[in-house]
Amino acid sequence: MKYHKITTGFVVQEYTTIGGEYICTGQVFVAGDEVDREEEDTNEPVKIDTTKEQYQSFEMKQPPVSSFEKGLIFTCPDCKSHRLECCETGPYNSEVLNIEEEGDFDYGAIGASGTVERFQCLNCGYVLKDEASENIDMNEEVAEWIKKNCEQAEGYIDPRYLDDNVDK
Ligand SMILES: [Zn+2]
Repeated sequence: MKYHKITTGFVVQEYTTIGGEYICTGQVFVAGDEVDREEEDTNEPVKIDTTKEQYQSFEMKQPPVSSFEKGLIFTCPDCKSHRLECCETGPYNSEVLNIEEEGDFDYGAIGASGTVERFQCLNCGYVLKDEASENIDMNEEVAEWIKKNCEQAEGYIDPRYLDDNVDK
């Protein structure tokens, strides 16, 4: 049997202002109490033994911009994209999620265990460089670069300067 489990609820999306635009920084699905199960073909209600139904969370795909409470926001100087990509050299791997008979595969997230070569804009390939025009390959340098070159969301406070984190 194939059926659709339909959970009624609502989606909450969080927005913040960056450079005069409203950017979504996170989203969550809030499930309500109403759950319906319908047979896939007929859309007729089905009764199932719910103790045998595996739980699947309602986790949603998050937008590429992290919340300003959690971190810095990258803005590409060329194309204004907020998506930053870490490029590594070395072995890559990824899970095969779907195998088509003709040989078309769908892949999951790519994991890498090599060394970082550069950070670049995911959209246009703009490469982050330091003052000596060398590719930036350290996380700390990326953070410094972003702080120097990218406008941050309203209300962003560098957590290192909060009272809690000042050296005692
Ligand atoms: Zn770009």
